[in-house]
This record gives sequence, structure tokens and C-alpha cells, in this order.
Amino acid sequence: MTLMTEKYGPLTLFIDGEWISVSDSGEDVYNPATGEVIARLPHASASDIDRAAQAAARSFPAWRALTALERSRILRRTADLLRERADHIAWLLSTEQGKALGEARIEVMVSAETLDWCAEEGRRIYGRIVPSPYPQVEYRVLKQPVGPVAAFTPWNFPLMMPARKVASALASGCTIVLKPAEETPAAAIELARAFHDAGLPDGVLNIVFGNPAEVSEQLIAHEAIRKVTFTGSTAVGQHLAGLAARHGAKRCTMELGGHAPVLILEDADLERAISLLAPFKFRNAGQVCISPTRFYVHDSLHDRFVDGMVCAATKLKIGSGVEEGVQMGPLANPRRVSAMRELVDDAIAQGARCMTGGNLVGNRGNFFAPTVLADVPESARIMNEEPFGPIVVTARIHNTQEAITQANRLPFGLASYAFTSSAHNISMLADGVEAGMLGVNAIAVSTPEAPFGGVRHSGYGSEGGIEGMEPYLVTKLLAQG
Ligand code: NAD
Repeated sequence: MTLMTEKYGPLTLFIDGEWISVSDSGEDVYNPATGEVIARLPHASASDIDRAAQAAARSFPAWRALTALERSRILRRTADLLRERADHIAWLLSTEQGKALGEARIEVMVSAETLDWCAEEGRRIYGRIVPSPYPQVEYRVLKQPVGPVAAFTPWNFPLMMPARKVASALASGCTIVLKPAEETPAAAIELARAFHDAGLPDGVLNIVFGNPAEVSEQLIAHEAIRKVTFTGSTAVGQHLAGLAARHGAKRCTMELGGHAPVLILEDADLERAISLLAPFKFRNAGQVCISPTRFYVHDSLHDRFVDGMVCAATKLKIGSGVEEGVQMGPLANPRRVSAMRELVDDAIAQGARCMTGGNLVGNRGNFFAPTVLADVPESARIMNEEPFGPIVVTARIHNTQEAITQANRLPFGLASYAFTSSAHNISMLADGVEAGMLGVNAIAVSTPEAPFGGVRHSGYGSEGGIEGMEPYLVTKLLAQG
């Protein structure tokens, strides 16, 4: 065994407080920068999954009965442990997912912040007293935890996505079974380790891995599970929401794909727009659901904008995420490389101009060059399908209304961005753009303090902010005579 695999592994399931490393089945985990196998991931059997759901159900009454302050202390202790272990967790995350170490470290810190935020917000879950129309009856509105949750998270933020779901569920008094992405398991396991070391009672958090379709089918149907939360593609989200509907109309939160428009209007501060958008676009090699993707730029600014993005793209240092100074790592898996190749070829065939990139980098690992495609026609696939990769796609617009029409042309509505210096434009955008989040002259639309979520094909329900607790709570009316 090499040093790399010793530092990375071993990988385990975590069920009812027990670390399980032995299984009849499993899969290899790869380093996306080299294509090498770095560990073997055990899969949960059907009886493991059942045990995880039963453990979440068994531990629920006692966890729910703790005071909000007691639950909050465990979350805060866990956040502190994540910070103490940040260097190691960031290395694991970068090794399994590919992102640059600096980004991985930020992910660990933001995950810890998220736990702190939820720890505090769990202490502010208030009910309501309703003025009664009857002299002998009092009305109270109670907020209570929904129960054991099944959570499914993707590979692009291997720690942050699990942290968001687990923190909101636990702070609300729910227990949880989490299935992180099999391609990036170690960061989620470290989250469970931090919770365990912080004193989380057995069974409150369980982690299983396996064939995603089989695990989700079994877990969502399980009688112990009361809520489903998923982050990933629209197609899979629609499938899981269907399963939840069939098995007892279980409530869902769905954080699905996007295709974020960026509207650069005639009166935009172009230098500021480029300086914010270029690093944001290539963060995590574009594998971010709120990544800016469709750049609609006013005709008078378009060519200068393209030059600015090309300049930023060509300066990026590309390499293995764990190497010093690297700014953009590989894509997370070979599927993404083929997807980039196909989308670029299709766009060029339809008349787009490839200003830089468009090619694979090196001959091992999943590296794809930062790419800028200019004047991409509306019919190109990349103008309609979420690229989820390091590609800037531009088209020209001529006025604000045209920009809003383009933003709303696709059925997605997660993040959107605009650059303008006019109050009138901001008011038109705030009213007209269909999206869960709109950043105007700003890109920071994801933070623990604020609600994060989409509309239309990008899903429903919020994570983060005071809104992030609501999906884990049921509302009960108590009428007391
Ligand atoms: P995919 O649709 O196969 O998988 C997306 C995620 O869903 C993965 O983590 C996978 O393990 C999980 N998944 C797949 N089928 C499942 C099932 N039946 N039950 C439970 N989980 C299931 O796509 P992919 O090739 O991994 O990623 C490509 C696309 O996914 C991207 O283009 C992007 O649109 C989307 N994606 C979105 C996010 C996000 O943050 N919203 C994250 C990752 C991927």
C-alpha cells in the first residue's frame, strides 16, 4: 500500500455509532488528478440500510427530547473539531474530488460556520399563540421535528452538502441517514467522526454507501423515514420526489441543477464584473450548481468582456488540487470530461467561436482546459443543458428586457447574476428574473445566514437562513379548552 492510500483511507459505513469497514460488496474510489485507485469503499447491504433507518427511528425520541441548548452544544463542538482537523479534511476532500486545496479549506471552514449557524438557529425555533375567537379555548401553533430524514448528497461539495443537511436536521431535533456520493466518501465520514467525537448519541447520524438507485429506493420507502432531502441533478431529483410521493407523500427538499444566467447590462462596471466572475466561474472547475454559466453581455461590452475572461482563463495554474499554487484541479470524474468535449464540439459546429481552451489537458487525470466560447447560438446544447464544468458561454443582448427574457428562457431557476449601475434596472431584474437567488453586482449568494434554493426545475425548499429549519419541522395546532 502506498502512502497516499494510507493517508486517505480506510473508508467505512457508520451505523448506530459503529464504524463498519467490511462488506460483501463495494467499489473503488479514484483520485481524479491521476486516475489511480486510492481506496475501497464498502457498500451497505439491504440489512445495513434497514439497521441505519431503524437506528435513526430508535434514537429520535431521546434526541428530540434534549433541550435545544444541549443539541446546540454538540453541533458547536463538532464545528470546533472540523476547524481543528481542517488541514487533514481539506487534503482528503481535494484528493477525492480534485478541487484546489485552498478551496477545500474554505469548504471545511464554511461547513463549520454552517454547523454554528444551525446550532444557534435551533435555539430560535419559535411557535405562536393565536388570539382565540372563543373565551374558553386557547390556540397555540407548535413547531416539532418531522422525524428521521433520508439525505442524499452529490460529489461537488463532499463536506459542505452533508454538513448543510445534517446540521439543519439535527438542530431541528431530527435524526438522519445520509448517503453521500460514493465518488467522494471520506469528507462525509470525517463529518460523522467529528459528530461522534463531539458526543452525538448513537443512531442520530448514520452514513451508508451503495448503489445510489438501490439505496434511495429502499430508504425512501422505509416506514421509519419521514422526510427526503436531495441535492443533485434535476432528473434524479424528479425520480426521488416521485418515490417520496408514492411512499406516504413524504415531504421533500430538492436542490437541483441550474444554468445560471449572468446579465451584463450596458451600464455595468465591466472591470468589477470580470474580476468577480472569472475566479467564480472556474472555482471547483465550474462544478457548482450556482456557477455562472450563460453570460449575456451587452453588445457594446461583449468583446471586452470576452478578452477579460480569456485573459483570466489562460493565467490559471492547473494541476492536482493538492499541489501548492494550483488554482484549478481536474474534473471530478471522466464522465464530466466527455460531457465537456461533446458540449464544446456541438457549440463550435453550430457557429460558436472558441476563444481559448476547448481541449483536454495532459494525458492522465480528468483535466479540461478553462474554456471561453463566444457568440454561442441559442440552439447549441450548452445554451440549454447545464455544463457543470469550466466553460464560459457568451451571447449578446441589447437591452434589459431582452436580458430578462434570456434569463427566463430555460426552465431552471437556481442562481442568477446581473451587473448594472441603474436602480431602475435593479428593480426590473428583482421583479422579472425567475430564480431562487439573484446577485446584483455581487456573486456571494450562498452563505449560512441566507436561504439557498431554487424554483421551477431547480427544485424547492430552502437550505440556510432561518428558512433552512422549516423543512425539518411540522406545524401542529394545539387548541386547548
Ligand atoms: P447523476 O445525475 O448521475 O448524479 C448526481 C448525484 O445524484 C450523484 O451524487 C449520484 O450519486 C446521485 N444519484 C444518482 N442517481 C441516484 C438515485 N437513483 N438515488 C439517489 N442518488 C442518486 O449525475 P452525475 O454524472 O454524477 O453529475 C452530472 C450532473 O449532475 C451535473 O451535470 C449536474 O447537473 C448534476 N449535479 C448537480 C449538483 C448540485 O449541486 N445541484 C451536484 C452534482 C451533480
